[in-house]
Amino acid sequence: MSETAKLLRVFLVDKQLSGLTSRLKAAERFLGEQEKQLSQLGSRKSTIEAQIKQLAATVANHEGEMSRLDARIEHLRTQMNSAQTNREYKAFLTEINTIKADRSKIETVALEQMAQIDGLKGQLAEIDTSREDRQKVRSVADDERTKRADEIRERVEQLKKERESLIAEVPATVLSDYQALYARREDESMAPVEVQDRKRHEFNCGSCMMSIPVEIVNRLMTHGTITRCVSCQCILYMDEAATSAMQPAKR
Ligand SMILES: [Zn+2]
Repeated sequence: MSETAKLLRVFLVDKQLSGLTSRLKAAERFLGEQEKQLSQLGSRKSTIEAQIKQLAATVANHEGEMSRLDARIEHLRTQMNSAQTNREYKAFLTEINTIKADRSKIETVALEQMAQIDGLKGQLAEIDTSREDRQKVRSVADDERTKRADEIRERVEQLKKERESLIAEVPATVLSDYQALYARREDESMAPVEVQDRKRHEFNCGSCMMSIPVEIVNRLMTHGTITRCVSCQCILYMDEAATSAMQPAKR
């Protein structure tokens, strides 16, 4: 068996393996996306929770300040009620009004912050709903991934064993070149020669469709040494269709 024929057996197994794992890979990608979105939602949630905590602490400070001012106003009122002169009374009244104005400013800010907290809590509730929905999708995606992995496990194991014994027969340099090629071109790593017209010596690469000289085809037919398409770099082989097309016509 030629080097090309030996390598072709490996390539056909690799193609089957990638076909089998493509659905699993798609399921894994989908699951990965769900997990990424969940983690983004989780970090948004913690950011908002931290903001709420900070705002609540500020509101509590404002409330403390307001009750301190309330006590002060109460105290001034008592003093004002026992004022001896009109001037004294007015002085207390002015001070009370100044404090009231300050308190009102603080209250406005506190109310704004409380409204902000309510808004943030609304956002949190939305995030929780999104997280619940996303977790359901994630769970379905997880089941799907497991199902896909289970359904191909046996066949993949079988093919991997087959591949092990097949690569043992391929020369190491040929194999390493092929593996580098496969990493780039996958299912397009090897392609059959297509016979357009045997008598006119018209052949082309089954991958890129560029023409192939007859000498290359003859060499593949007789020696089966590893031959690359000069245009697309894939490794060429003669499949059954090409081989039979090259047989002299029967009388
Ligand atoms: Zn080509």
